[in-house]
Amino acid sequence: MSARRPNIVFMLSDDHAAHAIGTYGSVVNRTPHIDAVAAAGVRLDNLFATNSLCAPSRASILTGTYSHVNGVTTLDTFIDASQPTFVTALREAGYRTAFVGKWHMGQGSSDGVDHDPQGFDRWDALIDQGEYHDPRFLSADGLRVEPGYATDLITDLAIDWVESLDGDGDGDGNGDDRPWCVLVWHKAPHRPWEPDAAHAGMYAEGGPAGGQPIPVPPTFTDDLAGRSDTARRAAMRIADHLTEEDLKAPVPPGLSADEEALWKYQRYMEDYLACVASVDDNVGRLTSWLADRGELDDTIVVYSSDQGFFLGDHGWFDKRFMYEESIRMPFVLSYPRAVAAGQALDRIVTNVDIAATLLDAAGVDVPERMQGRSFWRDLTDPAAARRDREREGFYYRYWMHDDRSHQVGAHYGYRTHRYTLIFFYNDGLGLPGCSDRRFAQEWELYDLEADPEELVNVAEDPAYAAVRDELEARMWLAQQQVGDDPHPDQPVPRLIAEGHPPTR
Ligand code: CA
Repeated sequence: MSARRPNIVFMLSDDHAAHAIGTYGSVVNRTPHIDAVAAAGVRLDNLFATNSLCAPSRASILTGTYSHVNGVTTLDTFIDASQPTFVTALREAGYRTAFVGKWHMGQGSSDGVDHDPQGFDRWDALIDQGEYHDPRFLSADGLRVEPGYATDLITDLAIDWVESLDGDGDGDGNGDDRPWCVLVWHKAPHRPWEPDAAHAGMYAEGGPAGGQPIPVPPTFTDDLAGRSDTARRAAMRIADHLTEEDLKAPVPPGLSADEEALWKYQRYMEDYLACVASVDDNVGRLTSWLADRGELDDTIVVYSSDQGFFLGDHGWFDKRFMYEESIRMPFVLSYPRAVAAGQALDRIVTNVDIAATLLDAAGVDVPERMQGRSFWRDLTDPAAARRDREREGFYYRYWMHDDRSHQVGAHYGYRTHRYTLIFFYNDGLGLPGCSDRRFAQEWELYDLEADPEELVNVAEDPAYAAVRDELEARMWLAQQQVGDDPHPDQPVPRLIAEGHPPTR
């Protein structure tokens, strides 16, 4: 590695689906600045959230652990912020560190556990979900309101902090060239999708970036007949579950049911994409500023999102489910000093792997508690990185059973390059944020090669019996490996019970 340790700018947005980013093939918008980061470095095509929900994903990213280990399983299980993170490890290794933006893992303390950010020289955190306009920030100095738009302000605060480090940081008269790491974690484009004046309406019909209605995804009218009852029970349908606060206007009178659904889709997407456009502009602002400082080559620039999102796919908004649009995280990274430009990586990796990867990049030892594995070598020396594509896969678990707003049943599963297996155990297990209703347990299996839209559940199809046997066993082993417990109702997989575990 180079003698100089990299600075790190880690931008994370909230609910920004990969399919609303140009380099990931978006047909609904353009994101030139995020695309430029990918073009200058690498785009990860198979980086997945292990629990597709805001707070749990943030906790996994920071701590490099699964939800059952870091304790942030639902939105209502606040983090014990004293646990080690990649940031605390960087700081112990001499990095200067800051956090700006959406934290959303609790404030203050409860039951003797502190939830505010730890391990940062400076932190400015939005309260709970945060506000788009004139947001409140909590810092070590207390609570304040910052006039302006959250996405711009978060970027400003990050830049101000780094600039405050210039000169003689430690007062010894020799200047201070220790590296720094800043987390720039946006609220946008999270619900309720409130654009700023500069971007509002840009994707509306007749708007500067639109002119045409926003393309409707091919699965928009999916009646979910090919999925489980659990999927059909979810309260995430654009046609039925967006509120007037989300839409910012009453539904025009006289529309048919189909016309009303399409009108809601356009309203929703216009605002979502306008919020994204502001994020993209601010990505450009940060990278231009780094370039002006002459630091772009020595800085690891990351843009990612805490999970994916349904953009009208299958008629839905939101995330949570272990389905493609929800679990895939956009993740692009540039670091010209060590990462060749124009790469794409299709290895299956997860949000749990990010902490170890950034520590590896900084030459800092990965704490033993972290469960993720670094994929840094795939980025810096892809020819030498060992791969066995058939062995790649990841374990997923959504815990927040039947929450009041979205009513998505608890489930876990295993995904390889070709298949997704899901077991809906449909039990809240008494966790905060879950209901105490139970529903019938169900399995789903999708062949992503034959059915990339996941329209046909083949879990009970005899032609897939052997595939299901193997995936059930691999899921069981993955669960053991990460130290999670299967639901007590889940039968031991046949191959495990018969003593023939899969070799991979
Ligand atoms: Ca989120």
